[in-house]
Amino acid sequence: MKEDLATLDDTAWGAASDVVPKFISPSDPAAQWTGAHKGPAFFAYSDNYLIDVKFGVIVDVEASRSIRQAEVGAARTMIERTEERFGLKPERLVGDTAYGAAPMLNWLVEEKGIAPHIPVFDKSKRDDGTFSRSDFRYDPTSDVYHCPGGKRLGTSGTVHEGKTLLYRASKLDCDVCPLKPQCCPKEPSRKIPRDIHEHARDVARSFAGTKGFETSRRERKKIEMRFAHLKRILKLGRLRLRGPRGAQDEFVLAAAQNLRRLASLVARPPPARALCIA
Ligand code: SF4
Repeated sequence: MKEDLATLDDTAWGAASDVVPKFISPSDPAAQWTGAHKGPAFFAYSDNYLIDVKFGVIVDVEASRSIRQAEVGAARTMIERTEERFGLKPERLVGDTAYGAAPMLNWLVEEKGIAPHIPVFDKSKRDDGTFSRSDFRYDPTSDVYHCPGGKRLGTSGTVHEGKTLLYRASKLDCDVCPLKPQCCPKEPSRKIPRDIHEHARDVARSFAGTKGFETSRRERKKIEMRFAHLKRILKLGRLRLRGPRGAQDEFVLAAAQNLRRLASLVARPPPARALCIA
């Protein structure tokens, strides 16, 4: 119990989310009730790896709750710890959309100077035939959006729900605009929400489709191979120890799969033998 209380403020554990889990394990309260694996739900911990994708070597390991926010917290912990302990700082971070939340991207871009090779999940696209946010051009110099009708949408600077700025068009402009049926047919004027960390999301979007991004996408397969090896060969589908410390200890031990990788990196293949048929 002491161990569970000690992790309450940790970003990979209690502080990851305010949402109360549907069920709490009486014997292992830090384990997360999850149905994320499309089968029956169960109590789980997440094993998070920081991997050097060039060589497929595990650089750090961190256990966390099995929810996205906790896994993102674990990634931040590993990046900082690796820098402190080994003086290693990546130029780019490769990850899936789970790591594409705006605060994480902002931390990578603005605080750490790491290029996020992470797909950005964009929920702003409209499918009802009206203009999406991407049809509006953002001007960072004047901090306004320009609409398809050539008008400006400004913001009062009020942050809504702690993360969103609203850029509003003038009702006078929209009232007489011939594009109104395609823009805001049910509202007096158009407003565009913008995350306070949208700049970092723009930086992440700018990598999408580049050669470097495609290379990163291919290199991600090395990460999946480590986890496949973990489950199929090392049979780590079930933990033997309980609590955050137990999960961390088992995950660190399982990272001994590094030895196999390092051996294959240093071992030289035998010289090719010529075959001859007489
Ligand atoms: S309706 Fe308003 S926001 Fe939309 S295009 Fe016209 S002027 Fe611009």
